[in-house]
Amino acid sequence: MEVKHIVKSVVADSIAEEMEIEPGDEVVSVNDTKIEDIFDYQYLTEDTHIVVLIRKPNGEEWELEIDKDEDEDLGIEFENGLMDNYRSCHNKCIFCFIDQMPKGMRETLYFKDDDSRLSFLQGNYVTLTNMSDHDVDRIIKYHLGPINVSFQTTNPELRCKMLNNRFAGEALKKVDRLCEAGITMNGQIVLCKGVNDGPELERSISDLTKYIPYLESVSVVPVGLSKHRDGLYPLEPFTKEDAKEVLKVIHSWQDKIYKEHHTHFIHAGDEFYFLAEEPLPDADNYDGYIQYENGVGMVRSFIDEFEEEIEERTPDSTIKREVSIAGGMIMDKVKKELIEKLHEYYPNVIIHNYAIRNDFFGERITVTGLLTGQDIIAQLKGQPLGEKLYLPANLLRAQSDLLLDDMTLADISDALQVEVDIVESDGHDFVYKLIEG
Ligand code: SF4
Repeated sequence: MEVKHIVKSVVADSIAEEMEIEPGDEVVSVNDTKIEDIFDYQYLTEDTHIVVLIRKPNGEEWELEIDKDEDEDLGIEFENGLMDNYRSCHNKCIFCFIDQMPKGMRETLYFKDDDSRLSFLQGNYVTLTNMSDHDVDRIIKYHLGPINVSFQTTNPELRCKMLNNRFAGEALKKVDRLCEAGITMNGQIVLCKGVNDGPELERSISDLTKYIPYLESVSVVPVGLSKHRDGLYPLEPFTKEDAKEVLKVIHSWQDKIYKEHHTHFIHAGDEFYFLAEEPLPDADNYDGYIQYENGVGMVRSFIDEFEEEIEERTPDSTIKREVSIAGGMIMDKVKKELIEKLHEYYPNVIIHNYAIRNDFFGERITVTGLLTGQDIIAQLKGQPLGEKLYLPANLLRAQSDLLLDDMTLADISDALQVEVDIVESDGHDFVYKLIEG
């Protein structure tokens, strides 16, 4: 179904405002060309002289000739940011986390997107299974990038099995086209024990190195297993020994690749280091934290920021306060060590540190971003919380104060009778908030 491009708002002092374009107007075409989505719109409006056809809500059409600087934005925001319908995925991956969510959550949380345009706009990872040749042509024509690809494996048969899609192996050929056209990409492998690890992981890494430098990095993260897996493919959690084995493979490839390409390229998610109980690599190993959003290097970066912040400070015993902080089990050991160090500097600041067990999704889920308000409330009720409870920012859904179960910070504050504040995923803010508030 064709999507109408309706103006939601117009930026103050912009070209659109000057042209009297208003919310509710429809942008019909640019330079006589129909707009498929935001990519077309951005491309077509780049020129210095453009003709925009606007349809007013009363049906009147205005043809606007606009002279502007190259790349100058018209200042229009659309009701649908993508300017097209969102594409959902055509797969049924054996590791899909959405299939492992309990019923009754907010409907939008169940939407399975697999849209290459969102990869470019928001950094989402796509499987390439519903990317048409026309899409590839447009990515190449507009030279978009980086495109984030969920590989899982480079073995075509295994990929079909993991994604439950008979076209999933074939889809990998699009990477060759993107690479030949010089499109930058990043990759991800969700590692499933006994499925795509061991020799299959070695094969994937070896195959993917041929795309360097266009494929800039690949992360390997362990599959998330919630307790809601009835009727799903039987997947086992990684043990400490498994995690050590995974790290051994990745480290040996890093050494090899670094010698040849001066990049580490393949990165293990932070969770593997915790599982293996091995020290985190130094910052240099993360290639500028290129896979940060995938949980690769987040903890190293946090610790280094903390160290930087504390080194700037002088011990001070005059600051007196009592506060609390809560988060996922995964960060507990690291946080304890950092809080001990803080205590050496600020002996009269009492910090209660709580690691919240994930009862909602099950204990195997240890990351902070998947905690719910109900678990936080249940486990902190009756505990000493001091004058303020700090919660990590990544608990919240994007641009909202909602947690996964739709609870708000105000709900938590009411239930626990304590002021609640957010601490950013940043070691500097951690020190600042806990000490100065
Ligand atoms: S691509 Fe796979 S993991 Fe992603 S939403 Fe679809 S089924 Fe789930």
